[in-house]
Amino acid sequence: MKIEKAKTSRKGSINYSNLGFGKYFSDHMLILDYKNKTWEEPKIVPYQPMSIEPANITLHYGQCVFEGQKAFMGIDGKVRLFRLDSHYRRLVNSSRRMFIPEVPEDVYKEAVKRLVDLDRDLIPTEWGTSLYLRPFIIAMDNTLGLKVSETYRLMVITSPVASYYEEGLNPIRIEVNTQFSRVVKGGLGEVKAAANYAASLYATQTAKQRGFPQVLWLDGKEHKYVDEVGTMNIMFVIDGTLITPSLDEGTILPGITRDSVLKIAREWGWPVEERRIAFNEVVDAYKRGVLEEVFGTGTAAIISPVGELHYEGEAMVVNDRKIGPKSQKLYDTITGIQYGKLDDKFGWLTVIDDEK
Ligand SMILES: *Cc1c(COP(=O)(O)O)cnc(C)c1O
Repeated sequence: MKIEKAKTSRKGSINYSNLGFGKYFSDHMLILDYKNKTWEEPKIVPYQPMSIEPANITLHYGQCVFEGQKAFMGIDGKVRLFRLDSHYRRLVNSSRRMFIPEVPEDVYKEAVKRLVDLDRDLIPTEWGTSLYLRPFIIAMDNTLGLKVSETYRLMVITSPVASYYEEGLNPIRIEVNTQFSRVVKGGLGEVKAAANYAASLYATQTAKQRGFPQVLWLDGKEHKYVDEVGTMNIMFVIDGTLITPSLDEGTILPGITRDSVLKIAREWGWPVEERRIAFNEVVDAYKRGVLEEVFGTGTAAIISPVGELHYEGEAMVVNDRKIGPKSQKLYDTITGIQYGKLDDKFGWLTVIDDEK
């Protein structure tokens, strides 16, 4: 691996008391190029602009995928990456669907660990903060002819972050969208392709203008069944049972936080159901007074309680707009594992050794 260290650190220009999300970038980035049918040697270089031709095929046709994962500064001073393996495997899945060649596992994992190690001094230390990693792969051919690219670039940039939402762990308001479709069955919904977000922007922005930071998507065909929230999977606690849409339809992203929540909940013996959920069922549970908790799950926010669901002009207030006991317990447990306070009994963490 080629490593060119940054001559000066950006650390002094990072406002650690107001990190926000994805505003600041660390000192280094990873570049891995695919040319002549092979992935070349990884390079770590100072974070910097890159030049691409205007004819870069990604700019026109969007053959690209991404990931989002985090590294944490533990309470014991050790740096830990959360679920590196699952994120690698999902990156490969997304790549396959977009006809992007698979990045070799060892090369990827070693390079990511080295990158995090190099910028360990920039990782924020407060509970709730972390180093967010954004791996992504773009097609690099220069042509206006529509085709599958023959060259690619994988990059990983990292960002010291606080909570994803300005609201933090405070419940957010969500609007149930019955007009647009983010994905349809057979589309790209189950992979982390940039295209899914492009398709969601209009509905999300107009919802924001109405005061809703996120949209809840229903299935793309009938607008009847629950899919997921813009950047998160969705979970309901109805009459004591944790219910979330199953992955079977292929229209929702298999979230790694979703998977972590389900594993923990099952281990605790909570009743858990993964299945299709008609939105009417949620409305009905609300009317019966058994819609106990609603929350989103995703790497950025971990658990994001939903305080209000707006559906066809009517507001359903959940748990008095407060975080519910199950949401709180899941949040405390997942963050407890991430910061090394609780036992890593599922083997989710990779400790990054200090190689300096
Ligand atoms: C990334 C993402 C999620 C959350 O997945 P995590 O692995 O938990 O971060 C949910 N929905 C969509 C559409 C996503 O892109």
